[in-house]
Amino acid sequence: MAEQCISERLLKVLACPACDTRPKVKLIDDSLHCPCCGRIYPIENGVPVMLVERATLGNNTECGERTQ
Ligand SMILES: [Zn+2]
Repeated sequence: MAEQCISERLLKVLACPACDTRPKVKLIDDSLHCPCCGRIYPIENGVPVMLVERATLGNNTECGERTQ
């Protein structure tokens, strides 16, 4: 587990832009994971990149949305 490089306060305001429900993302390793759609947003130089086009798709989704 890498050292946490973004603040918890910032984490609380970050939400997945791909989901209508704007779920809070979780910091896992060095990236931000949406618990709903499973997208993984990178953190570059300590700055979260909350862009759908930059996200990668994980394989754990809780809300059933699946995109290839
Ligand atoms: Zn999402």
